[in-house]
Amino acid sequence: MDECVFCAIGSGAVDSDLVTRPSQRVFVVPALRQRARSRGRALVLPVAHVRSLHDAEPDLRDEVFAVTATLTAHFLLCSAQSARTCS
Ligand SMILES: [Zn+2]
Repeated sequence: MDECVFCAIGSGAVDSDLVTRPSQRVFVVPALRQRARSRGRALVLPVAHVRSLHDAEPDLRDEVFAVTATLTAHFLLCSAQSARTCS
Protein backbone atom coordinates (compact mmCIF):
# COMPACT_ATOMS: atom_id res chain seq x y z
CA MET A 1 0.00 0.00 0.00
CA ASP A 2 1.24 3.48 -0.83
CA GLU A 3 1.41 5.93 2.00
CA CYS A 4 -2.09 6.99 2.80
CA VAL A 5 -2.58 10.35 4.49
CA PHE A 6 -5.86 9.21 6.06
CA CYS A 7 -4.19 6.17 7.63
CA ALA A 8 -1.48 8.46 9.02
CA ILE A 9 -4.15 10.71 10.53
CA GLY A 10 -6.24 7.78 11.78
CA SER A 11 -3.25 6.18 13.48
CA GLY A 12 -2.49 9.44 15.28
CA ALA A 13 0.89 9.85 13.57
CA VAL A 14 -0.22 13.10 11.94
CA ASP A 15 -2.53 15.88 13.16
CA SER A 16 -3.75 13.87 16.16
CA ASP A 17 -4.98 17.08 17.77
CA LEU A 18 -7.32 17.74 14.85
CA VAL A 19 -9.39 14.59 15.02
CA THR A 20 -12.03 13.13 17.27
CA ARG A 21 -12.41 9.43 17.89
CA PRO A 22 -16.00 8.46 18.57
CA SER A 23 -14.96 4.79 18.52
CA GLN A 24 -11.88 2.60 18.25
CA ARG A 25 -12.50 2.01 14.55
CA VAL A 26 -13.77 5.38 13.31
CA PHE A 27 -12.33 8.86 13.43
CA VAL A 28 -13.63 12.26 12.38
CA VAL A 29 -11.76 15.18 10.87
CA PRO A 30 -13.80 18.36 11.30
CA ALA A 31 -13.16 21.08 8.74
CA LEU A 32 -15.37 23.90 9.83
CA ARG A 33 -15.80 27.22 8.06
CA GLN A 34 -13.30 26.65 5.29
CA ARG A 35 -14.99 29.30 3.21
CA ALA A 36 -17.13 32.29 4.07
CA ARG A 37 -20.30 30.75 2.61
CA SER A 38 -19.66 27.23 3.89
CA ARG A 39 -20.41 26.02 7.39
CA GLY A 40 -17.79 23.35 6.85
CA ARG A 41 -17.55 19.63 6.51
CA ALA A 42 -16.50 16.63 8.50
CA LEU A 43 -14.76 13.56 7.17
CA VAL A 44 -15.86 10.33 8.84
CA LEU A 45 -13.33 7.62 8.15
CA PRO A 46 -12.40 4.15 9.34
CA VAL A 47 -9.06 3.86 11.14
CA ALA A 48 -8.21 0.79 9.06
CA HIS A 49 -7.35 1.49 5.45
CA VAL A 50 -10.10 0.72 2.95
CA ARG A 51 -10.10 1.83 -0.67
CA SER A 52 -13.85 2.45 -0.66
CA LEU A 53 -16.82 1.82 1.58
CA HIS A 54 -17.99 -1.17 -0.42
CA ASP A 55 -14.60 -2.78 0.32
CA ALA A 56 -15.17 -2.36 4.09
CA GLU A 57 -16.55 -5.12 6.25
CA PRO A 58 -20.31 -4.61 6.75
CA ASP A 59 -20.02 -3.97 10.49
CA LEU A 60 -17.32 -1.32 9.90
CA ARG A 61 -19.41 0.29 7.18
CA ASP A 62 -22.40 0.31 9.55
CA GLU A 63 -20.26 1.99 12.22
CA VAL A 64 -19.09 4.70 9.79
CA PHE A 65 -22.68 5.45 8.82
CA ALA A 66 -23.86 5.40 12.45
CA VAL A 67 -21.21 7.99 13.37
CA THR A 68 -22.16 10.03 10.30
CA ALA A 69 -25.84 9.95 11.29
CA THR A 70 -25.02 11.03 14.85
CA LEU A 71 -22.85 13.90 13.62
CA THR A 72 -25.50 15.01 11.17
CA ALA A 73 -28.10 15.11 13.94
CA HIS A 74 -25.78 17.19 16.13
CA PHE A 75 -24.95 19.58 13.29
CA LEU A 76 -28.64 20.09 12.53
CA LEU A 77 -29.40 20.73 16.21
CA CYS A 78 -26.51 23.18 16.53
CA SER A 79 -27.54 24.91 13.33
CA ALA A 80 -31.12 25.30 14.59
CA GLN A 81 -29.91 26.62 17.96
CA SER A 82 -27.53 29.01 16.24
CA ALA A 83 -30.33 30.33 14.01
CA ARG A 84 -32.53 30.99 17.08
CA THR A 85 -29.67 32.73 18.88
CA CYS A 86 -28.86 34.96 15.92
CA SER A 87 -32.43 36.01 15.07
ZN1 LIG B 1 -5.55 4.61 4.31
